Amino acid sequence: MSEADRADRPASPASPDASDAPDAPPSPPAPDRAVCPICPQACRLRAGQLGNCGARVGARVAAGSEVRPAAFGRITALALDPIEKKPLARFWPGSQILSVGGIGCNLHCPFCQNAEISQCRASAGLVAGLRYLPPEDLVAEAVRLGPRGNIGVAYTYNEPFIAYEYLQQSARLVHAAGLLNVVVSNGYINAGPLRQLLPLIDAANIDLKAFRQSAYDQMGAPHGLERVQQSIELLAAHCHLEVTTLIVPGLNDDAGQITEIAAWLASINKDIPLHITRFHPAYKMLKTPAPARPQIFGYVRLAERHLNYVYAGNI
Ligand code: SF4
Repeated sequence: MSEADRADRPASPASPDASDAPDAPPSPPAPDRAVCPICPQACRLRAGQLGNCGARVGARVAAGSEVRPAAFGRITALALDPIEKKPLARFWPGSQILSVGGIGCNLHCPFCQNAEISQCRASAGLVAGLRYLPPEDLVAEAVRLGPRGNIGVAYTYNEPFIAYEYLQQSARLVHAAGLLNVVVSNGYINAGPLRQLLPLIDAANIDLKAFRQSAYDQMGAPHGLERVQQSIELLAAHCHLEVTTLIVPGLNDDAGQITEIAAWLASINKDIPLHITRFHPAYKMLKTPAPARPQIFGYVRLAERHLNYVYAGNI
């Protein structure tokens, strides 16, 4: 199948620069905007307008308006990584996983460690320059890498849930091939779309970036804390789950928050692994120094009072 053939599919990239003019065929009056159902940002988009994540676009369809992925199948990274790099410490240790990333994010963290792919927007020009890897080819690559220890596909690097349709289609094929799906996410997704994906997810690592809504406000995430907690609870009940908290100076670097995070996770399951990782200067916080290593290890010891598995990362 040629790339041109694939681009004709309904879920293929819509043009972010599409005209806002009404469709030519007569049809019932279409609503001016469509509400994206994926995450709590609830973007209301006109045709051609990109959402807050920069990865979903309003589109006109026969029945009205909807929101579609703007860069379906366009990837920014593909690598065979050790599972521990996701990080997952207690899920198939020692294995490898084919890791794929796209573009955009529905949070806008000033400390983002991956801003070059997460904080750009899927303009038509940018999308055209990205490699196209449809779900069928992604899964074929995952199968091909089986002899090198690959156990499946990890959706990672940027926020994978905003590429909802790509993740869903790929994950179905991954399971059909007898492989596993791993999601590495900020957890900022509505419960409905997440529930639909749960049967396809075998393991997840969710960022719990702070335990204060005021911190999530700095990331542009209304209701961020409660929604991420909701995602963690849903995933913990369904699949293998690990949680990561990046220690960012001024955001969450206090013993009280770390203790609250660990105690809350323990109230769900004391066996949930928690990764306490060390911020490095990045994106809009280039002048902020990394926390001292002893500080990170101190938080690890605090969390170990509540949880059975706590790991220091980026040390
Ligand atoms: S996934 Fe993107 S377009 Fe949809 S609501 Fe969230 S930020 Fe908006």
